[in-house]
Formats: sequence, structure tokens, C-alpha cells
Amino acid sequence: MATAFVDSYDPRVWAARWQPAVAPVAAPLRQRLIAIAAAGAVLLVGAGTAWLTRSTEEEAVVAEASTAPQAAPTPSAREVRRVLVLSRASDLAESLTTAGLPADLVTKVVAAAMPALRSDGEIRAALTLIPDGEALVLDRLEASNSDSSGVVIRRLASGELEVSRVEAQISTRILVRRGTMDGDSFYSSAVAVGIPNSLIPVFAKALAFDFNFQTEVSAGDAFEAAYAQPVNASGEDAGVPRLLYASLTTAAKSATVYRVPAEGGAEDEWFDSSGRSIVRSLMRTPVDGARVSSKFGMRFHPVLHFAKLHGGIDFAAPTGTPIYAAGTGTIEFAGPKGANGNFVALHHDNGWRTLYLHMNRFGDGIASGVRVTQGQQIGEVGTTGRSTGPHLHYEVHIDGVKVDPLSVPTDASGKTLQGAALIAFEKIRDQIDVSRAGQGG
Ligand SMILES: [Zn+2]
Repeated sequence: MATAFVDSYDPRVWAARWQPAVAPVAAPLRQRLIAIAAAGAVLLVGAGTAWLTRSTEEEAVVAEASTAPQAAPTPSAREVRRVLVLSRASDLAESLTTAGLPADLVTKVVAAAMPALRSDGEIRAALTLIPDGEALVLDRLEASNSDSSGVVIRRLASGELEVSRVEAQISTRILVRRGTMDGDSFYSSAVAVGIPNSLIPVFAKALAFDFNFQTEVSAGDAFEAAYAQPVNASGEDAGVPRLLYASLTTAAKSATVYRVPAEGGAEDEWFDSSGRSIVRSLMRTPVDGARVSSKFGMRFHPVLHFAKLHGGIDFAAPTGTPIYAAGTGTIEFAGPKGANGNFVALHHDNGWRTLYLHMNRFGDGIASGVRVTQGQQIGEVGTTGRSTGPHLHYEVHIDGVKVDPLSVPTDASGKTLQGAALIAFEKIRDQIDVSRAGQGG
């Protein structure tokens, strides 16, 4: 198709510069003629401008003749195409008027185009004009939004307009961002390497079973994110990014997680590289630096002096040592309660309950009905209630039954992918890893 592309952002400029285009198929011939003309200029110096003028005319004739057999489905060698970018759709009418279209046609074209154009964001408009006698008249207008959706309007021989809507052409690009923690926050560290704001909490949540971002992450620790970014046909962002991969390496440990899309509207799940769910139902030890001073099971009670089921584990630790929520859940009770002393009961999302007894005091904001996340401090070790010294008595109840907290697998509510699900996961994982390797991973 014989078109001439001249990109300009100001219609007043390109309206003045319009020139008929020369068919691309004619280019070799044209170059040859120019070469001959140049040679002629040297050899026939005396002939001067007359010869050159004649050769230019010949060139035009040859160019048009050579177009005919090539471009069977019509397009004229004189067709003119102009592309412009409008800062908003409402600028379309003015641009078409500046381009020289008659007012009544501008009105009709704009009315036909507007329903397909967004009111916010740039509009790319390509106008194609064809000769009609001496004048150039509208052949078609292609107008598109940033996601490549838009409209094509053709002027038919009858003068009627034919309007065709164009669907968005969105593809997805996988982007990889790597960085190290600054001395300030994970947020600022992530922003510094270009991780989109909306993905930062998603990243932290995906790794929250492995890391406490407040206490376990420090300056110099390395992180990496891979995410899917929808882009339009021009490669511009055209949609919400989605985190696919998160990795964090500290001096103490390293964790890597991959996202697997869930079916049927459920929340996506995250798995480690071997297909094991990252979800850990409960922390193994909900208190820092503690030693087990009394195990779960039958024992002779040190205060009551008879054999009784010890329905939990005692962790001995100095008064004031932080106690953490073993899993995410809702506080069922927080307050003093007889022999339990200062006591917190958590109800977890899977129906399990965890109990924390003999606290010195409660964490800030800890009260019945409050939602807490795994690893959040809910209180500190003490010796309130029926207690012989500072310790945490910790219980886990599953289906209303007290179980040995140490017998609960830390990934009990998670799962390991198997069979077809594992194969599907490995495909997703490998695609992400190929993108990571391709971007210096
Ligand atoms: Zn106990």
C-alpha cells in the first residue's frame, strides 16, 4: 500500500507539510533514476536544469506505472497517511478540522468515533486521504486508545461512513526486578528498583510465612520480583501488573515462591520451587528464644500435685519476652481469666484455636474481635495466674481437641502439588525462570 508516514504531534505542522507519497515499489526505480540524474549532472553539465526537470517528470511517470500491476486491490500512489497523537479524545474534532476536512464531515466522523474512544488518556489517530481530482479527501480514520482498542471509520463511495470497532490487543510481558534492602524499608527498596507500588504488599504477604519483615530483614538482604505486565500493541503499560514470583535472601535464610492461578474465583496460591505450598498453618514456636520446660502429655502437676493431662507446652523465657500469634486469625478472648492469668485465645481461619497463658501483659491493640496476622506480637511472657515462674503455656486445639503443638506439622494446612497439578506448576515455574534468566537471572 502506498503510504507516507510522517509522525507529528501538532496537526498545524503536518497540515502544512502534506505531500503526495511515492509508492514503495517504485523506490528502486526512483533511486536508479536519481543515480542517472546525478551522473547526467556530471556528464551533461551544460544541459543544466532543463535535463534534471525532465528526469523528475519521467520518474513520476515510471513510479505510477510500476505501481499498477503490483498493487492490484487499488490503492493510489498518491494516498496520504498522517498519524498524530491527541492528548485526549475531545481534541479529535479540532485536529480533523485543522487537517482540512469539511465541517459537516468532521461532525459525522467525530460522532462515529467517540463511542469507541476513552475520555481519558492519549488517542492515536491515523488519517488516510486519497486524491479526488485536485483535492485530497477522507478515505479512512483509524483512532485507538492506549490498549489498542478503538475504531476504523471508512468513507464509502456513496459518502456514507462505515464504522468498525477494534478490540484491544493486549499481550503480557514478564518483567524482573532485583535489588537489595536499603537501611530504610522494604517499601523504599522495592520502589527504588521499579517494582510497582501495588505489588509491594503482595510481595511481603507472599513471603510472610517465611519472614517477619519487621524483625528478620535488614539492609543488604537481596530480593527479586517477577511480574506480568499487560502491554498494548505499542508496548505501553495497559493494565494492572500481577506478581508471579518473589524471592528474599537474608544472612539467615532464603525463600522463593511462585504464584499459581486458582480456578473458580479462589485466591491464587503460592508454592516453593518444589511445588510445596508456602502456607504454614502455625508457627512452631510462638515465642522468641524459649526452651521447652514442660511437654504435652500426662504429668504430675507441680502446683496441684496429682497426675493430669498437660494440654499444652510450656516455654520458659524471661518476663517481657515477646509472644507471637502462631497463625493468622481473630482474637476470641484477651484478658485475665483465673488460673490462666492474662490469657489470649485465637481462632484461626481453618477452625483451629491457639491459646496463650500466663502473660505479663498484652500487645498493643490486642482485644477480643481484633484480627491478627501470623507472627504479630500479641503479648509478653509473664507468670500471671496459676504459675510457678515466667513461661508461656501454649495450646493448640484442633476440632475442639487439645493436641501436642509439636506434633502439628508446620505446613499441615498447606499442600504439596502432585500429579497433573505438579506438572502444571512446573510449567508455570519454568516459564517464570526462563524470563528471569533472560533478564540477567
Ligand atoms: Zn503449662
